[in-house]
Amino acid sequence: MLKRKTIFTLLLPILLSFYFYTNRSTLWGSIITYISKKEHPNFISYGRFINSSTRTKVNGRLSPTTGTLLKPLLISRIIETENHKLAREFIADSLKGLGWDVYIHEAEMDTALGVKTFRNIIATKYPQAKDKIVLSAHYDTNPVLGTTFVGAIDSALPCAMLLDLAIEMNDYLNDKVELSLQLVFFDGEEALQSWSSTDSIYGARLLARDAKLNLVPNFKIEDIKLLVLLDLLGAPRPFFAQLIAKTGKEYKRLRFIEKSLRNEGLLFDDGENEYFRDYQAFNSVEDDHIPFLELGVKVLHIIDYIPYEFMGYAQSLGRREFPSVWHTLNDDENAIDSKTTWNLSILIKVFVFDYIENVNKK
Ligand SMILES: [Zn+2]
Repeated sequence: MLKRKTIFTLLLPILLSFYFYTNRSTLWGSIITYISKKEHPNFISYGRFINSSTRTKVNGRLSPTTGTLLKPLLISRIIETENHKLAREFIADSLKGLGWDVYIHEAEMDTALGVKTFRNIIATKYPQAKDKIVLSAHYDTNPVLGTTFVGAIDSALPCAMLLDLAIEMNDYLNDKVELSLQLVFFDGEEALQSWSSTDSIYGARLLARDAKLNLVPNFKIEDIKLLVLLDLLGAPRPFFAQLIAKTGKEYKRLRFIEKSLRNEGLLFDDGENEYFRDYQAFNSVEDDHIPFLELGVKVLHIIDYIPYEFMGYAQSLGRREFPSVWHTLNDDENAIDSKTTWNLSILIKVFVFDYIENVNKK
């Protein structure tokens, strides 16, 4: 009797280990889902965006050397040039190919260099949906830096990430008609001479102006539940802080998603414990979201920016507030870090997925 009991006691851990080993993914998956659900009742599974075949596909699209979505955008994109038109057509055609409604918002503004035409691209999965979550980035490049500047982090990669997100989430979005995803590619973010409130964010100012007057089809200020603006993404070791007081809840959610994905080993280990810091910056950063913020839109600004309070830390990384390649000719394909790109692309997709799910459940 004693002998049988001993054998069983010895065998039990071995059997249990074998069970855990063979079932670890499902087991861990359910444990995490269970914990997440307890902490956050609406948190649901997001594994569909993270499996290994997705990873290969995303790498194929966002690789700086061969990426089918990034490579075509790694050209000079100065306003009113042929290359700028090529970039715009590439973005518009990619989204039209997915069946999205694409509208080019075109407007003129008097600038220090005379009257210029700016063209924002607005792509919508379900134009008729009342509520929208808007994801955005700017597609022009800084004209002061000349035609050899391709702005990889500023903002070719953020634009390519939005296209990749549209491809990855297109099927999922098919029956999500209550809250539609809308992508905005702003034109004329860059200053034509030197940055000031009147020499910058031309496209965004024009779009906000016309939207306020109800002149833009399928783009109404009151329909925007959240505007997410991506800028300066792709450099290694990014640093994000909460920059807008009103979207503390959304920022916290992003931090929670990052923590969950890291705990599950679903992000590449690049030596960073967290990208999205538990910190609210004293200063915000001027960017395309400003005219919308002024109209009362909720904004989440995702920009690799180290606030002045952390300048010592920034210097230890060999940079200042923005990544070291920012507004230099080094902001080219070599500036893009593949691990950071994957991690950010997943974080943003899961954030959008989670946001849409929660809204649709209410
Ligand atoms: Zn720039």
